[in-house]
Amino acid sequence: MDRKVRVRFAPSPTGPLHIGGVRTALYNYLFARRHGGDMILRIEDTDSQRFVPGAEEYINEALAWLGIKIDEGVREGGAYGPYKQSERRDIYRTHVKQLLDAGKAYIAFDTPAELEAARAATPNFQYDASTRLQMRNSLSLPAGEVEALMAAGTPYVVRFLIEPGRDVEVNDLLRGKVTINSSILDDKVLYKSADDLPTYHLANIVDDHLMEVTHVIRGEEWLPSAPLHVLLYEAFGWADTRPDFVHLPLLLKPDGKGKLSKRDGDRLGFPVFPLEWHDPKSGAISSGYREAGYLPEAVINFLALLGWNPGDDTEIMNMEELISKFSFDHCSRSGAKFAYEKGRWFNHEYLQKAPDAEVAELFKPVLRAHGVNPDDFTDEYITRAVSLVKGRINFVADLWEQARFFFKAPETYAEKDIRKRWKEDTPAILTELIGVLEGLPSFKSAEAEPPVLAWVAEKGYHLGNVMNAFRLTLVGECKGPHIFDITELIGIDETVSRIRRGIEAIQIPPAQ
Ligand code: GLU
Repeated sequence: MDRKVRVRFAPSPTGPLHIGGVRTALYNYLFARRHGGDMILRIEDTDSQRFVPGAEEYINEALAWLGIKIDEGVREGGAYGPYKQSERRDIYRTHVKQLLDAGKAYIAFDTPAELEAARAATPNFQYDASTRLQMRNSLSLPAGEVEALMAAGTPYVVRFLIEPGRDVEVNDLLRGKVTINSSILDDKVLYKSADDLPTYHLANIVDDHLMEVTHVIRGEEWLPSAPLHVLLYEAFGWADTRPDFVHLPLLLKPDGKGKLSKRDGDRLGFPVFPLEWHDPKSGAISSGYREAGYLPEAVINFLALLGWNPGDDTEIMNMEELISKFSFDHCSRSGAKFAYEKGRWFNHEYLQKAPDAEVAELFKPVLRAHGVNPDDFTDEYITRAVSLVKGRINFVADLWEQARFFFKAPETYAEKDIRKRWKEDTPAILTELIGVLEGLPSFKSAEAEPPVLAWVAEKGYHLGNVMNAFRLTLVGECKGPHIFDITELIGIDETVSRIRRGIEAIQIPPAQ
């Protein structure tokens, strides 16, 4: 059957989107684009208990930042809406009724206390063929009593009637055929009258069917639900158009076994969320890739390779290249270690490729955070500063350490550099240097350098000491880009004023 590829990313708005969820969204997107298909964003908000304000907006903002484009969704609209499950109650009600009428589901009145008692009485209690007739439901109670309970408005749930002893086949494009016996499944709750909402299982498969989803690509944690979903498709008579499953392997801790968690990020110093998240309840702030200074292209490239490869060892690929190469044939079946250092490397690479002017824009908020008003400098100035130090950074935020002296004169001077480079005669030599600099016909780096070097040679000064003392007054320590590139950018007046200030402020510390 040749159907147009349609995939969906179906997050529940229960908090910030985890980086593993981002990878799931990305693989959905790459697969859809690769096959000229559609990408749906469906908000699965049927669990009102777990709803977190701001989570849906966060998901939208994160996907937009990363360049994962949605074709149909709450904001985008589309022919298969609404795309938010809490707005599809009528649809679920009709479908629940359809299963009830066909005898494929039943109504159960067991209270939480009764269920608790059953669990206490029977080890490994499961609500299924072996126990359901001892419980209070429309299969065990006389019809009249069921009617009376319903008429009295007694809260109930609808449970899926699972026939025991059947082999259920789940065909997963990554894992192949997985067969499980239906006897291990319980009669899952599909609907709760208390909030007139379906559970995840019902809503998920009804929507996948109605939205004509062809491939369900989701995290491995949903694999245990797949047999139930297969049976639900069958119960509705939709087995022929059931989507293919792809259950993506977990993202693992960088340094060991087990699932990647927020704690790993806190412990090792990397974000596990795409954007910074402000928890509305606790007020706690969790760091995000965007705020940590990652470029979205780098995050995408890094995530794409956590569990997939293009079939060769190409590493740097933009979204278009990823799309053209993506296939589940090269997806791994085992968990991918979250090698966050590799993420840093990708960011370094992408920063080197990014136009300096773009990086300069990203640097502006960093400048502001350090009390520098970027509006006091021209865009050309900031861009030039960036271009001089970009090779040394992995993150935009690192620019501050590397380029701060372009924006603020040093207030302190590194003691170890003073000890090494500042001599008795340094103030006199630097005073002389001011005269040399002021006499230069051009302050351009390439033109300023030769006359200064000639002066040092002519005077027989120690080149290393003079230049490093000079640098110390400009930068505050003996590091940074080529000295005449610095002076060209900050200009003659600022250069001279920094030398003067250095001469005044720098004292040779007493011998240790
Ligand atoms: N709402 C589920 C989630 O939060 C969707 C799982 C699925 O894709 O079927 O991940």
